[in-house]
Amino acid sequence: MSDKRKITVAYGDGIGPEIMEATLRILEAAGARIETEVIEIGEKVYKSGVSSGIRPEAWDSLRTNKVFLKAPITTPQGGGYKSLNVTARKALGLYANVRPVQTLTPYVASKHHMDLVIVRENEEDLYAGIEHQQTPDVVQCLKLISRPGCERIVRYAFEYARAYGRKKVTCFSKDNIMKMTDGLFHRVFNEIGEEYPEIEKDHRIIDIGSALLADTPEKFDVIVTLNLYGDIISDIAAQVAGSVGLCGSSNIGDQCAMFEAIHGSAPDIAGKGIANPSGLLNGAIMMLVHINQPDVAEKIQNAWLKTLEDGIHTGDVYTEGFSKEKVGCAAFADAVIARL
Ligand code: NAD
Repeated sequence: MSDKRKITVAYGDGIGPEIMEATLRILEAAGARIETEVIEIGEKVYKSGVSSGIRPEAWDSLRTNKVFLKAPITTPQGGGYKSLNVTARKALGLYANVRPVQTLTPYVASKHHMDLVIVRENEEDLYAGIEHQQTPDVVQCLKLISRPGCERIVRYAFEYARAYGRKKVTCFSKDNIMKMTDGLFHRVFNEIGEEYPEIEKDHRIIDIGSALLADTPEKFDVIVTLNLYGDIISDIAAQVAGSVGLCGSSNIGDQCAMFEAIHGSAPDIAGKGIANPSGLLNGAIMMLVHINQPDVAEKIQNAWLKTLEDGIHTGDVYTEGFSKEKVGCAAFADAVIARL
């Protein structure tokens, strides 16, 4: 029997195929013990008339393999289409979205120091997908928050902090205005926080919290927050750290897990060969740890850091007079492979 772990892979849309190809090449060169099963999702599937963007046989692959490495997809604008990202997170029960963001100075130019992890609730909130047309001119989106949902994600954040030796967990919410929904989240944070006396607890209203995150990110360690806020602040944090193209994320459930870049399909640069594959690569590194191949994960992470340290940078992080060489997606992958 093969000792390879079978994983489901989707090449996605826009820059998806370029960054997935680069990432899988690096994984193979590093000796990752994986076997890939490719599914098609996203634009082509939407265009074939499947409004969910995913076919039934693809679900079979996901439910059997339980580990999904996914490139970004383009969500069609307008009514009638469901966001496949939201559908996948809900259907597979991926309740925790973990998004680490670090500045990489002195390898990548940044004005700040940041080493934080955003733990985002991944199934509820305004992303639960409950939207109604009330009248031709009035539409409604329901913000759904449950106590079990809050408890699960808040506990996950504290357990994560404990497991990784993190010192502080900050809750971001807007309960000065949304007293019931965000109020419940904040209350559960206070309750569960008491079970973790060794970890410092803090709370910020989301607006000032976001401002501080952009200005003094060193104040934060682990941040736990609701779905929509987490989506927004992780892009802010990643961009402040250097580029949205740098960060990966894991989506964790009790049965399945999905790994991806935090950014979207970047249609503005698709097909140009200039995308940074680091976000998806970092998602893949998290996946390797998840499937118990930390040796390969570490090898790739070191080679990736060495590539950045040597000043070999894609356009999104390239800084004149600081970086050494501007490369495209495939050449960046070659440089990482050369340093494995
Ligand atoms: P985006 O994240 O795709 O792009 C924002 C900006 O960042 C663009 O200028 C883009 O060129 C740049 N960028 C993103 N990734 C990069 C990379 N790896 N290297 C270099 N530059 C990079 O956001 P958007 O343009 O708002 O969204 C495009 C599409 O992606 C939309 O259809 C959206 O729904 C979808 N989306 C998908 C996911 C996902 O699949 N997980 C997440 C977010 C957005």
